[in-house]
Formats: sequence, structure tokens, C-alpha cells
Amino acid sequence: MDTPANVEPDFPLARLTTVRAGGPADLFARPASDAELVELLSWAAGEEIDIGVVGSGSNLLISDDGFRGLVLKLDGDLASVEREGTRVVCGGGARLPSATAKVARWGLTGLEFGINIPGTVGGAVRMNANAYGGELGRVLEWVDVCTAAGAERREPDQLGFAYRRSNLKPGEVVSRASFQLAEGDVDEIKATLAGMRDQRREAQPSGIKTFGSTFKNPDDDERAGGRTAGQLLEAAGCRGLQVGGARFSDKHANFVENAGDATTADVLALMADGRRRVHERFGVVLEPEVQLLGDVSWPDGWELDTA
Ligand SMILES: Cc1cc2nc3c(=O)[nH]c(=O)nc-3n(C[C@H](O)[C@H](O)[C@H](O)COP(=O)(O)OP(=O)(O)OC[C@H]3O[C@@H](n4cnc5c(N)ncnc54)[C@H](O)[C@@H]3O)c2cc1C
Repeated sequence: MDTPANVEPDFPLARLTTVRAGGPADLFARPASDAELVELLSWAAGEEIDIGVVGSGSNLLISDDGFRGLVLKLDGDLASVEREGTRVVCGGGARLPSATAKVARWGLTGLEFGINIPGTVGGAVRMNANAYGGELGRVLEWVDVCTAAGAERREPDQLGFAYRRSNLKPGEVVSRASFQLAEGDVDEIKATLAGMRDQRREAQPSGIKTFGSTFKNPDDDERAGGRTAGQLLEAAGCRGLQVGGARFSDKHANFVENAGDATTADVLALMADGRRRVHERFGVVLEPEVQLLGDVSWPDGWELDTA
């Protein structure tokens, strides 16, 4: 196999995630343009190599054994933020909080919800990220999706958005997204952002190694009684619970914290324990929000007897 010059072997991935856990990728590249991205995707397809994409790694848990394939992290042109009037076009690798701050300085409103989502634009589209009732789909105009076959433009109603979900498949990479925003008052927008930052500081731990929400909020309202995943975990006694180096945060029970040198196996064991406790206490089956990369095996006890 002839590996392209821009592909690095055996690349450590833990430092590309906010929880700082997991093993290396067999192959890794940082494409900086659509052409380079499509070239890599089509090379990998020809060689039957699996594709993984890492944005800011802020909702990502990588197997301790790493990933047997090519991991891509978008860079250069694919991480830019550009304005065309009230439209803002971002590379899939642009960081959402810095794009939000830049857009605020331009006096454009509509992207404020992104200030506290520490992911990339591509990761936000893939995950249908949301905060404070601001919906990505409300301002998103189109996305360019690259595959081995080339780039294709898709509208929001083609993306299958649901709670923390889209229909993007592995090997489909969001290279660019366009947001249709509105003109607003710079000071008002900045004040909104400051308020959102304060609200977040009160509700969530800061300065910890975490991938944010571990489990999705349940849709089983009858059993969950309208409670969030965090409230259920807390009521089931999970706050501060620790397995190896992984701990449910003291401040927010749905946040797993790497308290030292947590392995992914520690995180998975902790998740299984929390899920079991919530099921035993409330009969609710929590499903992970965090995305998995690589060959991840759940520990014994993950499967619950739901009969
Ligand atoms: C402290 C903290 C607070 C958070 N708060 C929120 C919140 O309020 N609301 C919210 O919704 N989320 C929140 N999150 C979770 C996370 O930030 C979001 O899910 C974010 O959208 C993930 O983006 P990312 O770039 O980090 O993606 P990653 O974690 O790197 O990847 C997540 C998934 O997206 C895929 N992906 C990444 N980039 C692309 C791309 N360009 N094309 C195709 N697929 C791609 C990956 O392959 C993976 O499957 C929080 C996380 C943390 C750590």
C-alpha cells in the first residue's frame, strides 16, 4: 500500500479529545482543502480503509486500542470563518465558540447558542448540537458533505436532524457549513454571550477533562418523570462515583471527568455502573450521547434486563 505523503502512521488521539483518553490511529491526516479531503477519502475507499473524523473531540470516546483506519482532522481552509453580508460560511473544522465570538464582533445575530459548545462546526452538524433553545437548524442554510465520490451540498431538511442526531454516515465529512444570520447590535449580542457564559459557569464544572453529556436525556417520560439524565444519575447516587481514573462530576452527574489517568475502559465501566443504577432505581434505560470511535467493547453489565 502506497500511503500518501500527508498521512502519518500511528498517531496518538487522546490529546485530540477533551477527556484525554484512548489509543492511537493507524493513520492520520489534516486535510486543509476540499480537494485534499476528497483525495484522501477516495484513496481510503480504494484501499478499503475505514474513516474516522475528529472535530474538537468534545463528545468523543476513543477505544484504548485506538482506531484501525484513517482519522481526519480538518485544518486550513476547512477551519476558516468567512462573512458574505449576513451569511457566514465556516469550514467544518472551525471551532464553534470562536466562530460565535467572531460573528458577534461583526454584529450578526443567530449563532449565540454556539458560545458554550466546545466543538467544531462539522461536529455540531453531525451531533445536531444545541444549547439554550437555539437551534442549529434554524440558522443553517446548507452544508457541503465530502465523500470518496466528491463534494455535495445538502440542505438542513436532508440531514435527518433529531435530538443529538443527524443522518450523516461514517465517511461523510462536513467540510463547510453556511449560516444565514441577521444584523444585530454588537453590544447586545456580546451581553447575551456574557450571560450565557455566566449561566454555564453556574450549571457545569469548568476546567475538567470531560466530553460533556454522557447520556442523552431520556424520552421515556412516564418512567423518567421529566427528569434529565443528570437528575436521574444524581438521584441514583452517581454524583462523585469513581471507577479507576473516571468519575461522575460532583457538580453535574451526567459529566464524566477524567480525574487523573482514566482509560476508556474506566469510563465505560463507570457508564455501565451509572446506567445500571438508574435502571434499577427508575426502570429507565439511558443511552449514550458520547460518540465512540474504534473497537469499543462495553463491560459486563452494560446490557440490562428490560423484559
Ligand atoms: C464542557 C462541554 C459542554 C458541552 N455542551 C454542549 C451543549 O451545550 N450542547 C451540545 O449539543 N453539546 C455539548 N457538548 C458536546 C459537544 O461539544 C458537541 O456534541 C459538539 O457538537 C461535538 O463537536 P466536536 O467537533 O467536538 O465533535 P467530536 O467530539 O470530535 O465528534 C463527535 C462526532 O462528530 C463526528 N464529526 C466531527 N466532525 C465532523 C465533520 N466535520 N463531519 C462529519 N462528522 C464529524 C465525529 O466523527 C463523531 O462521530 C459539550 C461538551 C463539553 C465537553
